[in-house]
Amino acid sequence: MDPPSKDFTVTIIGGGIGGLVLAAGLLRRNVPVRIYEAASGFAEIGLGLSIGPAAHRAMPLIDPQIREIYDSLVTTHADSPGYERFRETWFEVVWAGGLKEGSLLMDLKALPSGQTTLRRANFLDALVSLIPAEIVQFGKRLESLVEEGDGVRLRFDDGTVAMADVVVGCDGIKSKVKESMLPEESQYAQPRYSGMYGYRAVLDMEDMVKAVGDQRARVSTMYIGEGAYGISYPIMRAQKVNVGLYVLSEKWDCDTWVRPAKREEMKRDAEGMGRYVKSLVEFMPDPSQWAIFEHPHISTFGRSRIAILGDAAHASTPHQGAGAGQAIEDAHVLSELLGDARVQSTEQVVAAFKAYDEIRRPRSQRVVTSSKENAYLLCLCLPGVQDDEQKLKTAFQERLRWLWDLDVEDQVERARKKMLEYLSV
Ligand SMILES: Cc1cc2nc3c(=O)[nH]c(=O)nc-3n(C[C@H](O)[C@H](O)[C@H](O)COP(=O)(O)OP(=O)(O)OC[C@H]3O[C@@H](n4cnc5c(N)ncnc54)[C@H](O)[C@@H]3O)c2cc1C
Repeated sequence: MDPPSKDFTVTIIGGGIGGLVLAAGLLRRNVPVRIYEAASGFAEIGLGLSIGPAAHRAMPLIDPQIREIYDSLVTTHADSPGYERFRETWFEVVWAGGLKEGSLLMDLKALPSGQTTLRRANFLDALVSLIPAEIVQFGKRLESLVEEGDGVRLRFDDGTVAMADVVVGCDGIKSKVKESMLPEESQYAQPRYSGMYGYRAVLDMEDMVKAVGDQRARVSTMYIGEGAYGISYPIMRAQKVNVGLYVLSEKWDCDTWVRPAKREEMKRDAEGMGRYVKSLVEFMPDPSQWAIFEHPHISTFGRSRIAILGDAAHASTPHQGAGAGQAIEDAHVLSELLGDARVQSTEQVVAAFKAYDEIRRPRSQRVVTSSKENAYLLCLCLPGVQDDEQKLKTAFQERLRWLWDLDVEDQVERARKKMLEYLSV
């Protein structure tokens, strides 16, 4: 490797998908990186993840190996023999209940990649292979940070302190970096309950076929219903299926984000959701309810030498399958800006963080809003659409077109232009 090209090291707090993709992108551009991760190793819970076309296009631009890894792990509909014709399908949208119960509303395409899903833990494990072990410190949970004259002082919960040149907080929805960076907003910038909870499971394909039949098991499906929606998509070369049932519910009267529940509650929530969803929940082993939280909009993603990325900045509900994709788009922009040859000093990083904020905040915050609206769309209660067949079709397509049709290279160039303006002041 060439000698470091910069007068600064980027300290990343948190090694989830966002932190690791950013680290890979920076290392590829020869930017020195250090990672502090709270856990004792890199880990993800083993549920599924689906990444849309825009983030998929950004991957090779961050580091071609990321796209290679992703493409080598993904499951597509073509992994089920006989279902190759669904290669470009993202989800089939099916009426859960009512008069049209079980019938198809639409075949929602995601061009050109179609549905691509993977098991999160597999993706994270593979990303780890791009990161040299010596730049990572585990068991380092950040408590707070403060900017001082010549750097940023980091305080960890084990009592240790470290100095950093510049910091990117990739520490998820409960970000401590965000809290320290924006103390005046910490009152209202806490994650908030989004008005929905869900049941989640990974089922064996054989059980899934027993529950809903071959096509519904093998083709990713969203079941739209009144006040709730179901979702399923194959993962792990179609050996397993990721399933969920999400229910609108105004209140969450519990201190924890996951609460135990009885099977009767899960069944009650599936009432009115038609034969497929009712049958599906019979196979779901764990009726625990997962509260869905989201991030209120904040005023900036970067202040001076500190920035935030991914869920730390804009955690969204999962109803558009876009959260990790947004972290990847963030990492693309930030790695290009920090890797730019004109960014050499910490002062110049400040300009890069400002430009990153200006370009990435509007889009990623719109995703938070739009993802929540998508839940209403799926639950047939989005104002102006409700259960109108034609309006539903149009709304699904328009919302995804906005999300996916982004020119990811243009996004970087717009950010670079802004950064150069700040650098020239
Ligand atoms: C039910 C559900 C389904 C989803 N499905 C999809 C989907 O299909 N597609 C999609 O694109 N997105 C999906 N998402 C969103 C996606 O999971 C997140 O957007 C993504 O994981 C965010 O990555 P991140 O790296 O920003 O944060 P995280 O994955 O939360 O990683 C944060 C990391 O920081 C570490 N950390 C935390 N605090 C500290 C600290 N104080 N100090 C040091 N380290 C710390 C953590 O241990 C962790 O390693 C879904 C989310 C949910 C809840």
